[in-house]
Amino acid sequence: MGQLASEQMAKGNGQSLNGQSSAKLKSYAPATGELLGEAPNMGPDEVRAVVERARRAQEAWGALSIEERGERMLRFRDALVDRADEVIDLLSRECGKPRHEALLHELMVVADVITFFAKVAPQALAPREISLHLLKHRRSFLHYSPRGVVGVISPWNYPLQLPLRDVVLALVAGNAAVLKPSEVTPLIALKAKEIWDAAGLPEDVFQVVTGYGPTGAALIDAGIQLCVFTGGVATGKRVAAACGERLIPCVMELGGKAPLIALDDADIERTAQAIVFGGFTNAGQVCISVERVYAHQKVHDRVLDRAVEITRSLRQGDPASDFVDVGAIIFPHQIDVAERHIKDAIEKGAQLKVGGKRREGTGQFFEPTILSGCNHDMTVMTQEIFGPVIPFMEVASEEEALRLANDSHLGLNAYVFTADRDRGHRLAERVQAGSVLVNDVITNGGTPDAPFGGIKQSGFGRVLGEDSLRDMCDVRHISTDRVRMTGKDPLWYPYSETSYGWFKKGLRALFSGGGIVQRIRDIL
Ligand code: NDP
Repeated sequence: MGQLASEQMAKGNGQSLNGQSSAKLKSYAPATGELLGEAPNMGPDEVRAVVERARRAQEAWGALSIEERGERMLRFRDALVDRADEVIDLLSRECGKPRHEALLHELMVVADVITFFAKVAPQALAPREISLHLLKHRRSFLHYSPRGVVGVISPWNYPLQLPLRDVVLALVAGNAAVLKPSEVTPLIALKAKEIWDAAGLPEDVFQVVTGYGPTGAALIDAGIQLCVFTGGVATGKRVAAACGERLIPCVMELGGKAPLIALDDADIERTAQAIVFGGFTNAGQVCISVERVYAHQKVHDRVLDRAVEITRSLRQGDPASDFVDVGAIIFPHQIDVAERHIKDAIEKGAQLKVGGKRREGTGQFFEPTILSGCNHDMTVMTQEIFGPVIPFMEVASEEEALRLANDSHLGLNAYVFTADRDRGHRLAERVQAGSVLVNDVITNGGTPDAPFGGIKQSGFGRVLGEDSLRDMCDVRHISTDRVRMTGKDPLWYPYSETSYGWFKKGLRALFSGGGIVQRIRDIL
């Protein structure tokens, strides 16, 4: 194991080599092994000081009008777009991802998220009048107030898009945000912060704390009011428990095992292309990757053959030096995970159709891999892979595909392919997942209009969609009298036998099942 791999393998302990916290994080290019830079490993006192500064800065930021905050966020967007080449280059080098993906799936999504939320926030966060169905003499309003400081903890696979998505939501809603990026990809978060500062935006409103797992744990303990966590299920459970201890609300965006169901009438070419793109974009390190295919026996062989053919034509390599299709594996542990799943599947009878090996030599690469003849006895069909491996399973019916798709502890995304979109819609309603796309893959990860998140162990809470903006706020209910009230309310003291009798009649009049005549009789 090279220095790059061994240092990154330390992830999970929250510590560097030999279990010791190192003074600095080192970020290496996964495609070349080049040392790209360093970042501080921040301890609890530093993190607490950062959160304290954020809290003070939030007061002025939260006092701005929503429009003023939107205008400042658009300034941030413009600064990011102006420095697109620099951002894309760093993303491509720090994550080993193709430049198309750095552009389209990271920077473009962030620019769109900022644009969308700056536009909808004034209406989404405006006070709303609600009608109280019983207390008609009162007027009620919902107000959305910033919570304070939002802690954002993010993984390494989309180190610009995922954290900035949550940071943008927090800031537009009037909070300050403190971001803890993955130890594997700290530089792109620091670049975003540098661009924020250079745009003349209030420095302490958006800050970054770098470090290992304990730095994330310190952030939860530093007095934040909301934690938005994106990462694996195991870490998510620890983070949710830590938030529970402190009674901090949290949003959990955890792992996925997205099934793709190809029905008997699916278009062969579109389905095969979608499987290959959906399984291998970002080298499969996507929480909404196509992680298992259930293809009806009528189309199975043709979809499989075509997917294998397309996969053979993919170009893999260092994205910083060429326009490749598939880049490197960011976190080397994922190569071992992929190998383990493939070995288990082949031992249990699966066939390796293409790929299956790590690439020797410089960089962390794993060949795009397709397996056929898989079933649910194999870990490749039941556990998250988070790498470029697509297992196929043939099914005899739509019902069998649905049963197998739902046979998972995870439920983030799912995909259905069919020539009949109404049939696809009906099936989608029965698939257990936070989002189901019919005849498409992946796109919902970057669609700001629609809520994104999982069910089952894929987490809870949603990011994106207008509701998620309101979730960044404390909801306050303010109720005023509709007509001028004087004296005492009939519901107040003193309690008497007479008033009790009236209220009892009221109970029947309001809530008994009889018709209007019966209800009037109850009062009399
Ligand atoms: P991890 O769960 O290992 O880490 C996520 C973040 O949590 C990292 O910044 C990590 O820091 C930090 N962390 C680790 N321990 C703690 C702790 N005790 N307290 C607070 N923070 C902590 O996930 P990965 O980075 O390995 O990302 C891969 C996972 O993320 C996959 O399971 C994937 O499915 C999921 N994911 C989910 C998405 C979604 O939207 N649902 C989107 C993308 C990925 P450090 O890196 O320094 O250890």
